[in-house]
Amino acid sequence: MRKREREKFTTKLLGMRKEILREIQQDVKAEREGEAGDGRDTYDIASDERDREINLLLGDRDRRKLQSIDAALGRLEAGDYGECDECGGEIASGRLEAMPFSRLCVTCQDEYEQAARTMQTDSHTMVTPRLNTPETDDDAS
Ligand SMILES: [Zn+2]
Repeated sequence: MRKREREKFTTKLLGMRKEILREIQQDVKAEREGEAGDGRDTYDIASDERDREINLLLGDRDRRKLQSIDAALGRLEAGDYGECDECGGEIASGRLEAMPFSRLCVTCQDEYEQAARTMQTDSHTMVTPRLNTPETDDDAS
């Protein structure tokens, strides 16, 4: 991947990261304002305390997303960004545009999802029969 492209994805990922953190900080702020009636200066807290609080407020989904973003940023730095974790192949740039933190190429992602689906499906209902929709239903009568 070219340097220019790497920079583009770095910016994009940092933007996404900031966006998530901003949303969480807004939650923190809203919560503070709710309990600020006694006049304490609640905004004046050490930043590591704030970080800890943000970490607590992170939902599982956001946390996973942040982790993926951080991991992608790490790969960008290491220079192996855009390579599939599974087969080592190149991840299509269109896919990276849509999901800059994806770790699998389309092929491997499909296989992964198929495997996940198969695991969810009951073993004796593996083949789901398609509904027979009559094609000329409108004029049938
Ligand atoms: Zn792959």
